[in-house]
Amino acid sequence: MTDFLALAQPGVQQLSPYVPGKPVDELARELDLDPASIVKLASNENPLGPSPKALEAIHGELTELTRYPDGNGFELKSRLAARCGVQLNQVTLGNGSNDILDLVARAYLAPGLNAVFSQYAFAVYPISTQAVGAQGKVVPAKDHGHDLEAMLAAIDENTRVVFIANPNNPTGTWFGPDALERFLARVPGNVLVVLDEAYIEFAEGDELPDGLKYLARYDNLLVSRTFSKAYGLAALRVGYALSSAQIADVLNRVRQPFNVNSLALAAACAALDDADYLAQSRQLNDAGMAQLEAGLRELGLSWIPSKGNFIAVDFGRDTAAINQALLRAGVIVRPVAGYGMPNFLRVSIGLPAENARFLGALAKVLNA
Ligand SMILES: *Cc1c(COP(=O)(O)O)cnc(C)c1O
Repeated sequence: MTDFLALAQPGVQQLSPYVPGKPVDELARELDLDPASIVKLASNENPLGPSPKALEAIHGELTELTRYPDGNGFELKSRLAARCGVQLNQVTLGNGSNDILDLVARAYLAPGLNAVFSQYAFAVYPISTQAVGAQGKVVPAKDHGHDLEAMLAAIDENTRVVFIANPNNPTGTWFGPDALERFLARVPGNVLVVLDEAYIEFAEGDELPDGLKYLARYDNLLVSRTFSKAYGLAALRVGYALSSAQIADVLNRVRQPFNVNSLALAAACAALDDADYLAQSRQLNDAGMAQLEAGLRELGLSWIPSKGNFIAVDFGRDTAAINQALLRAGVIVRPVAGYGMPNFLRVSIGLPAENARFLGALAKVLNA
């Protein structure tokens, strides 16, 4: 038999597939549990349920399912451009913002070139990089966060892309405007900085920079954002990038013609207009974060301070057994051993009752 793994390009041979949070139905099947009794706090999903306006918009599209979507995403791009203060030709839509990361890699990386990113950075950066045969240069983290100075130092003549996430997943760590400005001012102009702001809506007004403010000054900056988290549309897969018009043109050349489907386009437009939903998401997240922190403190645990909709809890020892015990109690959280953090579990912020359920189950597991 032919060894088709050996025939895959070397970067792909060395990849491990992305490991998503365990689906509720899978755990229900494995342990013969009622799916309704399971709490999933594993994929940084929005616990609010979708915006009613987004649902209504989807209904309006259903009779058009035989048609291709608008391949240019004109309506959504127009609204995003207006909202973000850029021109329409500076917006690129993605099938989730993961798609954006892939488009960047396909357009700008190749064998012999490299992308710089941090230890504990989002798992898709190495996947997108190695998938096109480029090298990922991993820079050691500082206090679990990005060490931007060390990342600058890691850039060499073969570096084409730097991936930075603010806040970062799975750590929740962040950097402020001063750090970003120092970084952007010193990155060589021919290196594309991908600033991944998947969680920015949870942190607005805090001490995080707004990446959009730097677009006019740095034509090597691309800001990626998503409707999957604060806007609550993870299942529909829609994200976007804001960049110079030239970079957007390049990404558009490698983009699949209809990469964002019509339901996603309609729902994203509606969600973007639903300011109440976004405010509610933010409020729920702030309250849930406070609830989890108080509960963890009571259990004598520590965690990495987070500006996302999740928190990485430090157990000071391998968490595989704790995770298994939580699963048996019907609580799904996210092991991050694959990120090199075997002593941590990442917990997404849920509804108040879900957070309480997690804390109660954890108390039992730790005292067993
Ligand atoms: C969740 C997440 C994304 C967004 O993923 P989508 O493809 O838009 O669902 C991007 N970057 C980071 C760091 C994330 O955690």
